[in-house]
Amino acid sequence: MTTLLSQLQPSAQDVLEAAHRLKGMAHRTPVLRSSTADAMLGAQLFFKCENLQRTGAFKFRGAFNALAQLDDAQRERGVLTFSAGNHAQAVALAARLLDMPALILMPENAPASKMAATRQYGAQVATYDPVTEDREAICLRLARERGMTLVPPSEHPHVIAGQGTAALELLEEVPRLDYLFVSVGGGGQLAGSLLAAKAVAPLCRLYGVEPEAGNDGQQSLKAGHIVRIPFPRSTIADGAQAQALGPLTFDIIQREAEGIVTASDVQLMQAMRFFAERMKIVVEPTGALAFAGAQHAGLDIRGARVGIIISGGNVDLSRYARFLAD
Ligand SMILES: *Cc1c(COP(=O)(O)O)cnc(C)c1O
Repeated sequence: MTTLLSQLQPSAQDVLEAAHRLKGMAHRTPVLRSSTADAMLGAQLFFKCENLQRTGAFKFRGAFNALAQLDDAQRERGVLTFSAGNHAQAVALAARLLDMPALILMPENAPASKMAATRQYGAQVATYDPVTEDREAICLRLARERGMTLVPPSEHPHVIAGQGTAALELLEEVPRLDYLFVSVGGGGQLAGSLLAAKAVAPLCRLYGVEPEAGNDGQQSLKAGHIVRIPFPRSTIADGAQAQALGPLTFDIIQREAEGIVTASDVQLMQAMRFFAERMKIVVEPTGALAFAGAQHAGLDIRGARVGIIISGGNVDLSRYARFLAD
């Protein structure tokens, strides 16, 4: 019996190798401090700014790490994915840098600006009706018909390993972190971060943060198995609207994470406002999850050294203005 690549668990070593592959391709994003934030939480906070990553989110890391490992025949036929958000742009840019065709399947009601940005990076965009059509079935059919390789947004060992490199950089740059907070959608970023911590900071305790209205991961940890929830429409954290963790991410998160906490939309808006006003950075709602979770989830982190991954900064400016308004 053959084991499919997509079923292989990634290891801490895979994150270290991904970091090597990403050298000179991904930005080494800055780690910012804020004495106001430190005073608010009574802790020392270290913000890893993946909102300043290429394409505006950490997703470029996983996409590039996955695409760079395709063989010549796969490169020629190209890659395919489904995403209305940051993974689309990440795959589009990684494919362009590696000189391979990319096809991105987006819901037909996706913001025109996101479709345009994805096309600008050189990808072909196809649309589907999210009400009547199943995007995963369409992707599988297209992959079969065109021989393209499907690169999912989180449930893939090379994607998970790539996402872990942001935490790896932070943990190497800032020694002896007691806690690290990471936003959770499909769980790729948290799973990869957990592997990175295993390699370089085994004493650091990692928490995932989900939107209150989409806490499938938290429910899954409690139940001891993957819990699937209805599509969580009622959150502004559009990058974390996953309905369930996958088998790969859940396995790592269940084994290694300290827990998953949640943040409300109001807390996300407050955090975005804080980032804009005090730290002068644009952060999308999903990108503010980790900070909001560290601040409001009721964990006693006083006196601790705390890492926060700001996961992305892609937000439509008119929407952003509404979030910042009182
Ligand atoms: C995708 C994404 C997440 C969630 O990451 P997962 O790997 O799906 O858990 C969080 N923040 C931003 C900005 C994202 O684009």
